[in-house]
Amino acid sequence: MGELLVLIDHSESEPRKVSLQMLSAAKSLAEASGDTVAAVWLGPGADAAAAALGSHGAQKLYHWDSEDALGYVTLPQVSALQVAFETSGADTLLFASGNHTKDVAARLAIRLDAGVITDATDVEVGDDGRLVATKEVFGGEMITTSKIADGKHQFIGVAANAFPAEDTGGGAPELVALDVTLDDAATASKVVSVEKQGSSDRPDIGEAAVVVAGGRGLGNESGFELMEQLADLIGAGVGASRAATDAGWYPHRYQVGQTGRTISPTLYIGSGISGAIQHRAGMQTSQNIVAINKDAEAPIFQIADFGVVGDLYKVVPKLIEELEARKG
Ligand SMILES: Cc1cc2nc3c(=O)[nH]c(=O)nc-3n(C[C@H](O)[C@H](O)[C@H](O)COP(=O)(O)OP(=O)(O)OC[C@H]3O[C@@H](n4cnc5c(N)ncnc54)[C@H](O)[C@@H]3O)c2cc1C
Repeated sequence: MGELLVLIDHSESEPRKVSLQMLSAAKSLAEASGDTVAAVWLGPGADAAAAALGSHGAQKLYHWDSEDALGYVTLPQVSALQVAFETSGADTLLFASGNHTKDVAARLAIRLDAGVITDATDVEVGDDGRLVATKEVFGGEMITTSKIADGKHQFIGVAANAFPAEDTGGGAPELVALDVTLDDAATASKVVSVEKQGSSDRPDIGEAAVVVAGGRGLGNESGFELMEQLADLIGAGVGASRAATDAGWYPHRYQVGQTGRTISPTLYIGSGISGAIQHRAGMQTSQNIVAINKDAEAPIFQIADFGVVGDLYKVVPKLIEELEARKG
């Protein structure tokens, strides 16, 4: 029986939703494999988050309570995770698939001779006890299952919203401090300032339960005011197609698709988006897809659970009106 490590993605002392989802997934995997679940927290704030991590399945919490975890680029986190592996004797790591964490996992994989699978939308324990990850490839045209067959270590990057976060009421985890020493290389690149992009209070589209997305069919920049109005009524994030971001109607950081963000919300509402394969690559794992498009032949309808054929400037205001009426 070993430990299954889960790297906690967090904002200050607040674990991100994807971290709680990974812990819940890890709990099920650990029950199947006979392992225990250990969270790894890099940076200050572990104490404050321990209860939430425990109630989502963490039995142990390795923490490195140092500003150095966040004050330099990548390598201190790689070193701290290496210490977590050495301390725990674990062979498996789940991490939230993002640009930064993929960088961390790849560098750690070189050190520990591990294999890495990223963007997994499902993970289960295979017949041989190794983890089997499901992921979409070629812009979502194919679904693969794969496992890391060689070596001791296996690192799996998990997509946001791939699993539900379940508060099962577990007790506080045992806290274990990591003793991390950094070499000169690890502190060569210092983070001198961090600027938060945008000032919106809307949820990040990568984690939002609901995403309202707009495309070229909006016709102009002000169409996004309508998208934001709808989004704010239902607590959604706002996304955009590349046609809309390339036109300068909405910032590129909200682009959904192959060259933008990959999202997997419970509900995606796309207006004036045709559903090109490159857009679908970023949203087709959404649990419920609603498409509003005036062209009944638009490809988005092939993957939509609910479709409205009509002018979005007639449909969306009606939807807003109805939602406002229900809210009272
Ligand atoms: C290498 C590469 C990478 C790419 N990466 C991405 C990516 O990451 N994300 C992405 O989105 N695209 C990406 N694209 C672009 C992609 O191919 C499409 O061009 C783009 O997704 C189209 O955006 P759209 O659906 O908003 O526009 P369109 O395809 O022009 O569709 C607009 C839709 O709006 C409908 N419409 C028009 N007016 C109304 C109205 N009043 N009411 C209702 N419906 C209306 C039309 O019927 C149409 O279906 C990429 C392309 C390439 C080549």
